Amino acid sequence: MRAAVGVDCVKPNICKFDGHSFHIVRCIVSRLARVVLGVQTMSDALAYLEQREPYRGAMAAAAGPVNRIRHRFFTSSAIKMNATDLTHYLADSPPAVVRLEIEKHFEALNDKQKRYAHFISQACFAGTRIVLRQLSPEAESIYDLILALHRSCNGDWSSLASKAGVEEAELNHFLDYAAMFLGNMGNYKSFGDSKFIPRCSEKTVAALASTSPEAAKFYEATGGAIYSSDKQSLMHLGFPDAGHLSNYYPDSPNITKAEIEAISTWMEAKGLLPENTRLRKNGDAFEILIASSVSTVPSKGGDIGKDTSFTVEDGPLKGKTIKLVYGDYSKEMAAIADNTKKAADNADNDTQKNMYTNYTDSFANGSLEAFKDAQRDWIKDKGPMVESNIGFVETYRDPAGVRGEWEGFASMVNLERTRAFAELVASAPKLIPLLPWGKEFEKDKFLSPDFTSLEVMTFNGSGIPAGINIPNYDDIRQTEGFKNVSLGNVLSAKAPNEKIPFIRKEDDECFRKYRDAAFEVQVGLHELTGHGCGKLLQETAPGVFNFDKDNLPVSPVTGKPITTWYKPGQTWGSVFGSIAASYEECRAELVAMHLSCEFAALKIFGFGDGNVDMDGEAGDVLYACYLGMARSGLASLEMWDPKSQKWGQAHSQARFSILKCFLDAGDDFCKLDYTKDDLSDLTIRLDRSKILTAGRDAVAKYLQKLHVYKSTADVETGTKFYVDMTTVDPDFWGTKIRKVVLDNRQPRKVFVQATTALDEASGSVSIKHYEASPLGMIQSWADRNL
Ligand SMILES: [Zn+2]
Repeated sequence: MRAAVGVDCVKPNICKFDGHSFHIVRCIVSRLARVVLGVQTMSDALAYLEQREPYRGAMAAAAGPVNRIRHRFFTSSAIKMNATDLTHYLADSPPAVVRLEIEKHFEALNDKQKRYAHFISQACFAGTRIVLRQLSPEAESIYDLILALHRSCNGDWSSLASKAGVEEAELNHFLDYAAMFLGNMGNYKSFGDSKFIPRCSEKTVAALASTSPEAAKFYEATGGAIYSSDKQSLMHLGFPDAGHLSNYYPDSPNITKAEIEAISTWMEAKGLLPENTRLRKNGDAFEILIASSVSTVPSKGGDIGKDTSFTVEDGPLKGKTIKLVYGDYSKEMAAIADNTKKAADNADNDTQKNMYTNYTDSFANGSLEAFKDAQRDWIKDKGPMVESNIGFVETYRDPAGVRGEWEGFASMVNLERTRAFAELVASAPKLIPLLPWGKEFEKDKFLSPDFTSLEVMTFNGSGIPAGINIPNYDDIRQTEGFKNVSLGNVLSAKAPNEKIPFIRKEDDECFRKYRDAAFEVQVGLHELTGHGCGKLLQETAPGVFNFDKDNLPVSPVTGKPITTWYKPGQTWGSVFGSIAASYEECRAELVAMHLSCEFAALKIFGFGDGNVDMDGEAGDVLYACYLGMARSGLASLEMWDPKSQKWGQAHSQARFSILKCFLDAGDDFCKLDYTKDDLSDLTIRLDRSKILTAGRDAVAKYLQKLHVYKSTADVETGTKFYVDMTTVDPDFWGTKIRKVVLDNRQPRKVFVQATTALDEASGSVSIKHYEASPLGMIQSWADRNL
């Protein structure tokens, strides 16, 4: 499962509490999707999805349910689009091209680790054409067209445009499209799964392509699909029999959802896992295409033995033939396996070596059992310098939700942040008693949650998430565990000259300078102390209590002994139900807000000397923390649905309430400033000199209530209170402010990634960076030469 980048999310969705937050958040979004089903018309649905998209605030895990629900909107293939509808599908102009900064972290590796990272990176990128072929019939030809054009002019696109007689503006639209294509690895958005088309005219692309025979050949092969939009349903991925596109079912226009499901049932009964497969209907027979470098069943047998032809014994496909066909993407799988083998040769330890040996077996022989073994090794590989995962992992893009997209990443541990986080964990026993409750409401011993922060060098696939929680195999998760990682440089990547709405001119410089630092402090405090703190008062077994039953703890909220607690068998999730995810995120955010006022905590991250000083650098970081929280509270309104008047995202709901808490703090602590009736000049005014007084007090009061209601299983008071804090007034907040928020959306980010090269003679690996522009993006892919 993965978490997506949310512009304003501290840790969008990768927070784990009770180990099931992914599932909980996913449920919430799935519920949201059901709410969205209340949306009546297709254009409403489109508008809704369009609105949701740019911030990508909901986790990508949510993309699954949301997408699946969305497909229900587009069940008629006969619907034609008008010009207004078509504008929803135009490429971003310009896309926000940002660079993944990695050099410093890569250079911290030794030579062998660099080679290990290099070969993993090569293996990830070797699967590029797999991603394209899994997406659409035209994607690979579009990819080849872009790179053929680049090669034909040696990267000098202006000269190519003159040769083709194409205007500069038209050329730029094409380059924007190319950057967006490469950033999504295909002509459908990685989040939202809708097709996007260039803003330049079709004539422009034809003219560019006509300048070289190679490019002309690839353009021809796209068959007009770059622009085709005559069937609206084909603009979205989904089941073919609903009129949608899915290349997980190649050359099978007549395959039905029922047949796809029947094949899944058959595979499940046989014990054949689906992630690395595609399915083709060939006449009356079904071919399960297995990704492998071998093109026949391996001599030792496949995951279910040596047979490759079966007759279905019962069910709707009774009597039909199912064939296992090895060698889907065999050339790419061979290149991948070659690189994973070299990665194994350069591993730091036996666990890594075994992991990459298992990967190699999996990719060469099409074995998902070997892949699962690699995942088991991955869990055992604790705290490595180079962290990676590779294979057919996430199933969001298959309409049936079982076939995985090719993806892989190679990343480095951020040593400074790891040190700061470790120090924070060590300081937790001193920090946690500063929170506004007594020791009766706190654990005897602080347990820090599992959490690693990485910097990504390579992430290949259709999109880069902000966090990952894998493996997805429940049998492994339950018995052997999983890893929860956050991708730091994905979260902090910025477009040059990125606009920061709602920040006053006089705060802009300070906020730009310290928002990353503030973010890091906030993430650390949120994840480690926030989700890590607190005790649930429980009757653990009948008559057995984990608190003093004879002298009941006194609630700091009411000043009276508590009256509720968790009964045997009850858990936080079972008692608080659907509100639990957002409530807990809010509690963790408030802990971060409260403890960021501790200058000793700011010192751990390298700011100030631990003494209170609002005017120094630590004060700047603290100011940026509060300002950033207020700003994300405002921006979170995008995730509030005016139709259902419901929140669609746990963190957004939480942050909105924290903004309200700031605004209600009194003493003019925080205000919204505007002079225009339409609020178009809206900014946040937050009094820096009152953070440690009015600000912290308001946070403490809010946090204390949330914490005590949670600790004491007081679901009635807690739910009422939290619902009240997060209710959006539909006129001022839900309409006027929300409109300004939507008007200020930024285009989605696409990432330019570095390339690495191995000098065979010396064994040393060098790294090359590219500029954050469409040209830099295209050059990086040209250099990969795939
Ligand atoms: Zn969290």
